[in-house]
Amino acid sequence: MFASIQGEGPSAGTPSVFVRLQGCAVGCAWCDTKYSWNAAGGRATTLDALLAEVKAGAASNVVVTGGEPLEHPALGPLVAGLKGLGLRVEVETAGTELPPPVAVDQWNVSLKLAHSGVPEARRLRPAAIARFRDLGAWFKFVVGAEQDVDEVLLIQARYGLPSARVLLMPLGMRREEQEALMPAVVEWCRRHGFRFSPRLHILLWGPRRGV
Ligand code: SF4
Repeated sequence: MFASIQGEGPSAGTPSVFVRLQGCAVGCAWCDTKYSWNAAGGRATTLDALLAEVKAGAASNVVVTGGEPLEHPALGPLVAGLKGLGLRVEVETAGTELPPPVAVDQWNVSLKLAHSGVPEARRLRPAAIARFRDLGAWFKFVVGAEQDVDEVLLIQARYGLPSARVLLMPLGMRREEQEALMPAVVEWCRRHGFRFSPRLHILLWGPRRGV
């Protein structure tokens, strides 16, 4: 758990408490949180203790992330507990699992492209994507080249994703890479009616953990 600002997506810049749930079986080649893959890793706690920590974080927005939070058995009780505290809840997910019936305010779905190195059958699950689309989720794509944008367009057409809900973000874990790519990503957004999202945490702190 840590307090920061939301680094990307439609609420970028919002002061937030982050709860990072352990465990991810997606396996992206460029994953920057590989320490979160092991479901048995991290710091053990109880739901009550975690909710008390979040409350002390003094932000009204909570970002539940991972790992892949939808693989974690405590996601439902956690979201219910956070909502019980009157907090706004966003969940960051790769969109590979069907969303459970929980009262999430904002789903941020980061569908993975071929450059993730994950086989398509594992990273694009039609039923899950359709459900997220119907829930009004935001779909974030990390792009680094025109061919990545072509892939986004194919996914958008295949799953009927509204352009206004699609965000493009620059690939790269260093500030310099972000700065070099941003003008091209803005141009791709302008051309296709997508929204641009910065990755503020990388621009501000680079590949640091817990920021
Ligand atoms: S889905 Fe997220 S946490 Fe899992 S491997 Fe990919 S980038 Fe890492």
